Amino acid sequence: MENAYKNFLASLALVKNLIQLEDNIYNQLLEPKRVLEVNIPVKMDNGKIRIFKGFRAQFNDARGPFKGGIRFHPNVSYDEVRALSAWMALKTAVVGIPLGGGKGGVIVDPRELSERELESLSRGYMQAVYKIVGPESDIPAPDVYTDPRIMGWMLDEYEKIAGKHLPGVITGKPLDIGGSAARSYSTAQGGLYVLEEAMKKLQMKSPATVTIQGFGNAGYNMAKILQKNGHKIIAVSDSRGTVVNCMGLDVDDLYRHKQKTGSVANYMGAEELGFAHCFEQEADILVPAALENSIHKGNAREIKAKLIIELANGPITPEADEILVDMGVLVVPDILANAGGVTVSYFEQVQNAYGYYWEEKDVLQKLKRIMSLAFNEIWVKKEEYKVDMRTAAYILAVERIARAMEDRGMA
Ligand code: NAD
Repeated sequence: MENAYKNFLASLALVKNLIQLEDNIYNQLLEPKRVLEVNIPVKMDNGKIRIFKGFRAQFNDARGPFKGGIRFHPNVSYDEVRALSAWMALKTAVVGIPLGGGKGGVIVDPRELSERELESLSRGYMQAVYKIVGPESDIPAPDVYTDPRIMGWMLDEYEKIAGKHLPGVITGKPLDIGGSAARSYSTAQGGLYVLEEAMKKLQMKSPATVTIQGFGNAGYNMAKILQKNGHKIIAVSDSRGTVVNCMGLDVDDLYRHKQKTGSVANYMGAEELGFAHCFEQEADILVPAALENSIHKGNAREIKAKLIIELANGPITPEADEILVDMGVLVVPDILANAGGVTVSYFEQVQNAYGYYWEEKDVLQKLKRIMSLAFNEIWVKKEEYKVDMRTAAYILAVERIARAMEDRGMA
């Protein structure tokens, strides 16, 4: 896998020159403030202890407490976690919520664990990072292969150690223990709001045809929401295959198939291709919603879409980014496109702090306002600096983080 942190540093260096960022600020953004590495012992069902390596990276908290998900995946690494923590700091700045950036991860394939082993690992992770997380210091959330159930176990473990209720320590919780309405699909819903803004800018015809890579929390919900809004999902992929139907896939039926079989592969209502073929489909819009570096110099030229909405974090390598700019494709960058998740996580924290919960329609109204505003603020920077949307988003975010650091006398 390419080095995600190197990609972040390259974008940061570009922005430094464009906005003449002071060295005193820039040098503090080159590394996370802290990265904790932990070894978590778990008694497996066969009675043997297995040690899992995990991380919690805290990138920058000038604008507020560190905030970011926990990933359970075999490819988790020190580099990946610190890159994701940096992107979180940029993301919270782009949408203007009072939080910094952090990220956690454990090197594990959770699909190989029993329910009891998974719970034990989740509780073990929280025990290991307990001292550095908290509602006012660092607030984790779900990410790839972690979900509300895992957040529930982690919350319970944290509160047991603390000896009191502190629901704001973690977001993406089940509704019954302090989760927010709409959090389960907020990343995708935020993606829809920026997609609508982008379609207006490009004067695209609606409804549009869409390809989605990844059919997990982000990808499935995006497919469902887009279909509900009249758009046609013509291809979907997951780690085992790509399914294509030019007439439009039935998203709920495909989801039921994935629930039953574990994959979109072998779905009767579509033609099937290998997972690598999803980018070459003839669709107006492409939504990468799987993992980093999926679109690279080897496959970028195959893309037919005119608009890419990056629901995944870091799905396009810098080389592919340049190719796409040359091809005239508008890329709505991850730090804006998937910020709906962290925005509703922030709403969840606010509701936890007040002990008063909002209706779904209120959450969506507030989310739409924030996402549309952020899109248009980035568009202004794009025009002002004559750059692509990713660079414009970095400019907006770095300026906001730099101002907070200056206000604190950190410059
Ligand atoms: P998830 O675990 O729910 O789903 C991941 C999906 O990607 C699965 O369907 C998996 O099969 C698929 N996948 C893995 N490798 C693939 C490949 N090579 N080709 C095609 N598909 C592949 O994870 P998620 O929460 O949906 O996260 C997906 C991306 O969105 C990640 O980059 C994550 O950081 C980002 N994201 C998620 C949220 C959120 O709220 N869930 C918020 C912001 C960003």
